[in-house]
Amino acid sequence: MKPKHLVVLGAGESGASAARLGQREGYTVFVSDAGAGSAAYLEELRGAGIAVETGGHTEAELLRADLAVKSPGIPDTAAPVVKLRKAGIPIISEIEFAFRYVDPEATIVGITGSNGKTTTTLLTRHLLQMAGEQVIAGGNLGESFARLLLDHEPQDIYVLELSSFQLDGIVQFRPDIAVILNITPDHLDRYGYSLDAYADSKLRIARNQHPGDQLLLLADATTIAPARRRNPVRAAVTELDPATAITGSTIVVEGQTFELGTGQLRGRHNAMNALFAVRIAQQLGVSAEEIQLALNSFRPAPHRMEVIPTTDGRTWINDSKATNVDSTYFALEAMTGPTVWIAGGTDKGNEYTPLHEVMGDKVHTLICLGLDNEKLKEDFEWLERVVECQSAEAAVRLADEHAKPGDTVLLSPACASFDLFKNYVDRGDQFRDCVQQLIG
Ligand code: ADP
Repeated sequence: MKPKHLVVLGAGESGASAARLGQREGYTVFVSDAGAGSAAYLEELRGAGIAVETGGHTEAELLRADLAVKSPGIPDTAAPVVKLRKAGIPIISEIEFAFRYVDPEATIVGITGSNGKTTTTLLTRHLLQMAGEQVIAGGNLGESFARLLLDHEPQDIYVLELSSFQLDGIVQFRPDIAVILNITPDHLDRYGYSLDAYADSKLRIARNQHPGDQLLLLADATTIAPARRRNPVRAAVTELDPATAITGSTIVVEGQTFELGTGQLRGRHNAMNALFAVRIAQQLGVSAEEIQLALNSFRPAPHRMEVIPTTDGRTWINDSKATNVDSTYFALEAMTGPTVWIAGGTDKGNEYTPLHEVMGDKVHTLICLGLDNEKLKEDFEWLERVVECQSAEAAVRLADEHAKPGDTVLLSPACASFDLFKNYVDRGDQFRDCVQQLIG
């Protein structure tokens, strides 16, 4: 029989790994990327003898496909996607493709949400790992699902961070435990500027679940509850309600009490993430004692409320990953005393008013770190001091000047980083380096 032909659109992490998985499973494979592609992935593909084109899509090649895998970054409206669809060729995401080859006995945990996915995914892995489970994490963070299957021993538990774009391309993907952390406006340009459409996409995580599966979601009457009514689910649903489950740094999950103050998870948003990770661990049989020990030893990923150790009597926090207003809201809420706040960058149509209520009188100085700071300056002109600069070094020098002993200096930009930095990682790395060099 002639082997089936797989076409992969996009030569990034998910595309390259899907192509290799397809090859392993007996497909002939062709990878097509409209851009230049990244050197490392092109090398991986060529090294495996997989045909790849960059700088455009050859229609005749695409139309030979029996099946197409599309990278999450490519919108449904892109020309090659439209062509494939018109030709009746099924288009799926790499998550769906990999799911077809994972051991059906393995436990799949799928975690989605607008904010907190990475933190919750890594925390869940940590809680399970510390309890001795054989577990691996990936998906939208780190290694793709396909790569977890290709380059690692089969695992008992897969914890997958899932974006809405990845969920849009699933057909049969079925997590044993699905999580929806929160749904707040993001990526609406890909969903016809409809929050309902974006929420429906998140609910897809539960569409194939069976009655024996679990769906954990935030108790949220505004967005998630209506989305659930539009998208009935079969799984057993557990709603987690921060209003009753979180008191300061203490959380109560299924009647068990846990303390976060003994570890490094700071802020109410991280307490919300911990509710979900703990609930997953409980569901998979981890004891309360083991969970508490693992909460104590968990180290959050860099750039997310990351405390930079210094000896100057002030607290320096790198929250460069806060690229939208909602994430900065929680960072400011977590401040307990006088604060110098560094914000700004590429504005995505931000509405800053919600921040006013959580700032109270904690922020005495705002340092605007962006090319164009007019909007921020105007919105926060009522603060004691608003200054501006255009480099991480200048921001750290200004913060050093204005932060008194006992103060916190918080980099939580609420904006994208592309005006002055390569990305949020570059912004956070530069900030950390400057703090370490100038403050020590
Ligand atoms: P994601 O992977 O969904 O982008 P991260 O864990 O990387 O989430 O966190 C992204 C940003 O959002 C960080 O600034 C973090 O402090 C903030 N954040 C984390 N969890 C939440 C939450 N539950 N609600 C709102 N903001 C959050």
